[in-house]
Amino acid sequence: MAPEEASGDPYAPAAAQGIHRIAIPTPFAVGRVNVYLIDDSPLTLVDAGPNSGSSFDELQQGVEALGHRLEDIELVILTHQHIDHLGLVGLVASRSGAEVAAIDVAVPFVSRFREESEADDDFGVQIMLRHGISEDVATALRAVSRSFRNWGARVDVTRELSHDEVIELRDRRLQVLFRPGHSPTDTVFFDAERRTLLAADHLLKHISTNPLIPRPRDPGAARPQALVTYLDSLEKTREMELELLLPGHGDPITDHRALIDERSRMHVRRAEKLFGLIAERPRTAHELAQELWGNIAVTRAYLTLSEVLGHTDLLLNDGRVREVEADGVVRFEVTDPDGGG
Ligand SMILES: [Zn+2]
Repeated sequence: MAPEEASGDPYAPAAAQGIHRIAIPTPFAVGRVNVYLIDDSPLTLVDAGPNSGSSFDELQQGVEALGHRLEDIELVILTHQHIDHLGLVGLVASRSGAEVAAIDVAVPFVSRFREESEADDDFGVQIMLRHGISEDVATALRAVSRSFRNWGARVDVTRELSHDEVIELRDRRLQVLFRPGHSPTDTVFFDAERRTLLAADHLLKHISTNPLIPRPRDPGAARPQALVTYLDSLEKTREMELELLLPGHGDPITDHRALIDERSRMHVRRAEKLFGLIAERPRTAHELAQELWGNIAVTRAYLTLSEVLGHTDLLLNDGRVREVEADGVVRFEVTDPDGGG
């Protein structure tokens, strides 16, 4: 038994603060998503789960088990743009009349969810072809992504938040902190008095967070370096004095520095492993992903590509590898073949 199990519910310390976790089913490999009901004034929900009948039923039952009705929710706070978190936000707001708060940079995406997701998928196909994924796989993945579209839905944000502002509730203050990397809109909410951080997918205990490559907001701009952005965000969180992190999936985190250090070491190790493979011979990002994970399921092609490109970005920024493009496909090669690795 894990220590938490021995001492009971790992979410008991959060509940003691009036923050109640409701785990909502999702259709994704990550499993359930954590939604939080903050028993305060306004009655606040953090994220809402994906847009499906069974998720909605479980959300409603979860809220009722805590002695409230969904119609009583007064404020919904969105942590980021991913569909397992935002899908039901619009429905909850329309049932309850709740305000919907999200960071300003999320508004263009969530208010035009469908069009923006389509544009993301177009960008994804370009990136996949450019980095060695076959047209068949890229097209198939695009279709898979479209088939999941209805798990999301557009969101009307009625209260735009800015980085560093504070949301005042009756019993607590939540500081809004922008921490992009996992997505371009990741936002965490900090209760300084209780040293508690609503962290969503910024840091997860059981799996390393995926910094997915986002589409640049400026069409034609260079591909954003998601892992570099993410590591920078993690460093900011590492410096905080925290006792409890409440994540978007899985169990709470009580030692964020140790976990962040473990993640940082893993990323360095992975970059070194990729450097070794690139030193053997120039390879595309997709070939590198296959070296690391073998045959990759179609549904994981973009995820694993994002993972590899995050690490080759670290090597590119250090000047140890470079991109060489031929016929629209990029291969990575070492800058100094005699420099060893
Ligand atoms: Zn996410």
